[in-house]
Amino acid sequence: MNGFLPAHGGCLCGAVRYRISAPPLLADICHCVQCRKQSGAPYLPWIAVAAPDFAWIKGKPARFESSPGNYRHFCADCGSPVVMTGGLEPDKYGVTIGSLDEPDRFPPTVEAFTVRRLAWLHPMPGLAQHECGNPEF
Ligand SMILES: [Zn+2]
Ligand SMILES: [Zn+2]
Repeated sequence: MNGFLPAHGGCLCGAVRYRISAPPLLADICHCVQCRKQSGAPYLPWIAVAAPDFAWIKGKPARFESSPGNYRHFCADCGSPVVMTGGLEPDKYGVTIGSLDEPDRFPPTVEAFTVRRLAWLHPMPGLAQHECGNPEF
């Protein structure tokens, strides 16, 4: 983590805060139905972080098991989606780019679940297109 400045983020109301202490492993945009439903938005951008590099620093989020073993952590007060854990890769945390204090630091390089992309959206220029889930996350 040479010279990496920790990244901070949290929910809309500020009750839940976190810190990321090393560069993300991946930044992607997910078009899956679960991300859409949870966020209420057409897609949900994520970074993947190694679990030891992530720490909750304020509050305790609620969580919802969106698929077996996969937990979506959100603020119980304001509802912001902040983190996803579990599933096939328990050693990684997914963090919503929109909850970061400086979301422009980690631009996505991949669009995942493009088979679910809404008809009125188009592929983003320069981003890799994965029809199904990103195999790296
Ligand atoms: Zn909140
Ligand atoms: Zn998704």
